[in-house]
Amino acid sequence: MNAKELKKKLFAERKNGLLRISDEEYEKAQSYCEGYKDFINSAKTEREAVKVAVNLAEKQGFIPFEQGKKYNAGDKVYFNNRGKTVAFAVIGKSDCENGVNITAAHIDSPRLDLKPNPLYEELELGLFKTHYYGGIRKYQWPAVPLALHGVFILKDGTVKEVNVGEDDNDPKFVVNDLLPHLAHEQNKRTLPQGIKGEELNVLIGSRPFKDDEGSELVKLNILKMLNEKYGITESDFLSAELEVVPAFKACDLGFDRSLIGGYGHDDRVCAYPALTAILNIKDPEKTAVAILTDKEEIGSCGNTGLESDFLVHIIGDLTKMQGGDTTVALRNSRCLSADVNAGMDPTFQDVFEKRNASLLNYGVVVTKYTGSRGKSGTSDACAEYMASIRKMLDENDIIWQSGELGKVDVGGGGTVAVYIANKGVDVVDLGVPVLSMHSPFETTAKLDVYMCYRAMFSFMQGL
Ligand code: MN
Ligand code: MN
Repeated sequence: MNAKELKKKLFAERKNGLLRISDEEYEKAQSYCEGYKDFINSAKTEREAVKVAVNLAEKQGFIPFEQGKKYNAGDKVYFNNRGKTVAFAVIGKSDCENGVNITAAHIDSPRLDLKPNPLYEELELGLFKTHYYGGIRKYQWPAVPLALHGVFILKDGTVKEVNVGEDDNDPKFVVNDLLPHLAHEQNKRTLPQGIKGEELNVLIGSRPFKDDEGSELVKLNILKMLNEKYGITESDFLSAELEVVPAFKACDLGFDRSLIGGYGHDDRVCAYPALTAILNIKDPEKTAVAILTDKEEIGSCGNTGLESDFLVHIIGDLTKMQGGDTTVALRNSRCLSADVNAGMDPTFQDVFEKRNASLLNYGVVVTKYTGSRGKSGTSDACAEYMASIRKMLDENDIIWQSGELGKVDVGGGGTVAVYIANKGVDVVDLGVPVLSMHSPFETTAKLDVYMCYRAMFSFMQGL
C-alpha cells in the first residue's frame, strides 16, 4: 500500500459538501430552502413560529394532547405551552419507557423588546424605549429598517396581535445613530459601548395631534392611532409582549444562490428542519418528539424555556398514558439538541481553530460540547452516544462535519443540550453553521440546512 492509499484508509476525509452532493440532491436542497425562507419570513417571533408550526402540523393530522385520553402507535399529538413553546409527538410502536427520540430547537432570536412603559416624546418625535433580548452586538441595530411584532393582552383577556413593518406597504421603524461629523467622542467608545442599551430607542412618528394647546401632542397622536387600531391605552403596554425585529425578508445570497441571508437563522434554521422532519415521520418504532422552545437566548429560563420541567412533563404525560414510569423513559431517551454553530468566517479566522471549526457547505455540524474556557457549563456528549450518531449520519449518507465554538480561550456559548442532559437524556448538539450569528442579517448555506433536515428526520424515524 502506498502513502496515498494508506492516507485514504486512515485519514478522516474533509471535503466540501457541494463537491460530494449529487445534482439531484442539491436540487432538493434548493427547493427545501424555498419553504424555509417562507417560514422565517412568517415566523420572526416565538409566538409566530408556534402559530405557523401548529397550523402546518394540524394539516398533517396532529391534534392537541388531552390528559386522560389514550393514544396509539402512529397517532400525532402536540403540546402548546403558552403559545411560545410547542412539542410535537408521533407515538411509537414501542412504549416510551424504552426511550423517546427527541429533537429540540429554539424559536426565539435576539431582538429589541419594548419596555413595560415604552412610549415617549422628545423634541416632538415619538419613540419607544427598548430592552434588548439576548446577546446582540448593539452597534448593529441602528440605521436598519425594523418591524414591530407581538401582542397586547387587554385586562379582559382580549388578544390584540401586532405586526407592522412586514408588508411592502407597511411603515417601518428605525433606531437612529449619530452622523460621523459629530461622532468624534462616540468613536472613542469601545465597540460594545458604541451604542449603549439606553440609546436603542425606536423612532415611531412625528405628527402631532392638531391642537394649539397642550404638550406631548406627537405621543398623543400615536396613542390615538393605537387606540383606534388595537383598542389600547398607554397602560396596556404593561400586559404586552412587543418585539422589534429587522424588517428585511430572507433572500438568496451570492451569484450562485447557494446561501441564504435572513434574520433569526439562529435557531429557526434548525427549528424548521426539526418541524418538517416530525411532520414527515411515519409509524416510528420509538416515539418521536420535536420541541420548538422559547427563551434559549436568555438562558432557557422561565416556564417556556427548557430549563423548566416542560420536557419532563410531556415525556411524563406520554409515558403515564401507557402506564409507564417517566424516569425510566427519560433515562432511555436520546436527543439531538438542534442549534447552530459558528461557521468559520474568512474575514475573522483568528478566533477559530481551523482544525475543529465548522465550515459553510460542509454539512450539518455535530458539536460534542459547547461551554467556554475549559468546557465550563456544557453537556459533553459521551463517546458511546457520539458513536451512535456518527453511525446514523453515515448510514443515511448525510453530509456532516464536527465543530467547536471558537478557539479555547477566546469565548464560547451554550445551548439547551445541558438542560436536557440534566434530565438523564443522552444529548448532542447538531445544527447548521452560521456567519454573523446574532446579527440582524445572518448567513447560512442551503446544503447545510437540508442536511440538518435529513439528520432530524433520520434520527426521529429511527433510521
Ligand atoms: Mn441558538
Ligand atoms: Mn443564539
